[in-house]
Amino acid sequence: MDGTAVACSPLDAQLRQQLAQLRAQDLYRTRRTVSGTHGARIVVDGQSCVNFCSNDYLGLAGDARIAAAASKALSNGVGSGASALVSGYNREHAQLEEALADHVQRPRALLFSSGWAANLGVMRALLGKDDTLIADELNHASLIDGGRLAGARYVRVPHGDVSAFADALASPREGRTLLATDSIFSMDGDLAPLASLSSLASAHGAALMVDDAHGFGVLGGGRGVLFESNSGVGMRGTGDGGNAATPYPVPRTQTPPLEADIYMAGFGKALGTAGAFVAGSEALIEFLIQRARTFVFSTAPPPALAAATRASLALIAGDEGVARRTQLAALIARFRQGCAQQGIALLPSSTAIQPLVLGAESRALTASRALLERGYWVAAIRPPTVPVGTARLRITLTATHTATEVDGLVTALTAALKAA
Ligand SMILES: *Cc1c(COP(=O)(O)O)cnc(C)c1O
Repeated sequence: MDGTAVACSPLDAQLRQQLAQLRAQDLYRTRRTVSGTHGARIVVDGQSCVNFCSNDYLGLAGDARIAAAASKALSNGVGSGASALVSGYNREHAQLEEALADHVQRPRALLFSSGWAANLGVMRALLGKDDTLIADELNHASLIDGGRLAGARYVRVPHGDVSAFADALASPREGRTLLATDSIFSMDGDLAPLASLSSLASAHGAALMVDDAHGFGVLGGGRGVLFESNSGVGMRGTGDGGNAATPYPVPRTQTPPLEADIYMAGFGKALGTAGAFVAGSEALIEFLIQRARTFVFSTAPPPALAAATRASLALIAGDEGVARRTQLAALIARFRQGCAQQGIALLPSSTAIQPLVLGAESRALTASRALLERGYWVAAIRPPTVPVGTARLRITLTATHTATEVDGLVTALTAALKAA
């Protein structure tokens, strides 16, 4: 502070102390400001650079056709006016829910304003204190908070450990049991052992919830991780963990080869818009409409956003989706090969998320800064987002990167790591 005598409340005094502590630990976070369109080439804090820290895996966030669909719907205004159960449920929402149910081949789909809201809403609605949640320890924060909020018995299982899931299922339980897992883990890029979890759940009369935030639009020909079973999802320890960016189009009539009672995915990643949905049985969706508090007590998203998402869904389901997924798969392979040649040890991920663990927070920060100086934007991810001692660069590839940009990143990484 500048020494001016400004009265400092007790709360502010405490917060300033906590902030100072975060700074001292290299855990202080700040935002960088993007100008204009979000994409592989981006302007951040006034500097043009190549963006390797986006979840816009198919490069659709700035797509003009999706924006045009939103603009068209915006001629009716922005607001939905109320929650969906009062008067906020628009024809645009209904059409998107239909399209989503069709796309993932489930009886029904229900929109939520965000993935965070969907996970909290589902867990609080389905679980109470007599129930049990068995969850991977690296699940997304929203699944963790959802489980805590529900007040259920919470069993955290070591990452990807099928036998630990089995042990937890074998111990006596009352009430309902839910297994919950990310499909692709956000900070590691690896895939959950879904085939095993799915059969475990059905063998023990438990329900399975899959958060496919990072797989929807990319895996399973765009239909998500449940359509990915024929390419090795769930087979841990078999090389690189499946073919992440499967380009094949899945026929419309195919039901998911993998079973999950509750399928959740968002639009903020590969679809390039915002919001989320849950898909499942008629009974599940009707129950969530009655009881998911983040659905019942929250304003329905802008109808124009639903229109934009529907336009994006049409793109990813069509030939262009195939082309973009093919391009993404090629870039992932190129990047991994380039890193291997330079002796850069990436985590074993076959998806668009390619983390490089550096350990200390300061090391990740230094490397991230060095990369930005060279024109490559890669965020340093630190605790509590990742476990202590595993600070990392979370490099993400998108379909709109070029081979030259990927090669340039490998060169820049090689130099940045010498400095870090
Ligand atoms: C991003 C993400 C969410 C939250 O979705 P939002 O729509 O951004 O709130 C939930 N789960 C996972 C695994 C995510 O990566």
